[in-house]
Amino acid sequence: MAMIEIKALNKWYGEFHVLKDVSETVEQGEVLVICGPSGSGKSTLIRCVNRLEEYQKGTILIEGKDIHDPDVDVNELRTHIGIVFQQFNLYPHLSVLKNISLAPIKVKKTPRAEAEEVALALLERVGIHDQAHKYPAELSGGQQQRVAIARALAMKPKIMLFDEPTSALDPEMINEVLNVMKDLARDGMTMLCVTHEMGFAREVADRVIFMDGGLIIEEGAPQAFFSNPKHERTQAFLREIL
Ligand code: ADP
Ligand code: MG
Repeated sequence: MAMIEIKALNKWYGEFHVLKDVSETVEQGEVLVICGPSGSGKSTLIRCVNRLEEYQKGTILIEGKDIHDPDVDVNELRTHIGIVFQQFNLYPHLSVLKNISLAPIKVKKTPRAEAEEVALALLERVGIHDQAHKYPAELSGGQQQRVAIARALAMKPKIMLFDEPTSALDPEMINEVLNVMKDLARDGMTMLCVTHEMGFAREVADRVIFMDGGLIIEEGAPQAFFSNPKHERTQAFLREIL
């Protein structure tokens, strides 16, 4: 059974048709990179997967279960699907440790000591265990984004969604975040990554998807996608960004 199955997904913002019959299957452990021009629907697509956005037509199944079934608890669904945004969205008034341990304590009722132990282990994993007692504003952008990833991982998700996680970072901090994402991919996490970091895509993506105008225009294994893009719009896009 696929981890994620998106079938003929359609979404409108008012009159505006933002996702047009998007279908995609993602197996457990697969890493998909989604690229495409601004406004093509990339964020909207991945936000539908954890129901941060509602859609009007089509189906999304997670491990075979329709996320729109009446018995699906959205909060529970989101514990299985972590998301990391361009803007790190940390709680500014909470320490790094509390940012990471808050949801496990509140949502999963994990005992505080255990949640903090897990948080420290995750900080170790993302390479900033020495920052646990600082506040987000005291960290660099790259460190904040690594906290955001650790926070999402604290819920032990099956799927991680990334929405341009390095776009707001200074160039020297991009790799520290990409390296954490690469580790996650190697550990077998199922990942949907909206990113224009094509080096990352070449190295870790199983498939690269190019979206334009709410459609998947082209997709393929990175090797074929980059060396021999079929569609003229993909070629033009790659010329722009590479
Ligand atoms: P991308 O992430 O590829 O840049 P988005 O998914 O954010 O694209 O947006 C796709 C299109 O939908 C854009 O034209 C955007 O202006 C529009 N859009 C996004 N969010 C909303 C919203 N909440 N209301 C109306 N239009 C929106
Ligand atoms: Mg976007």
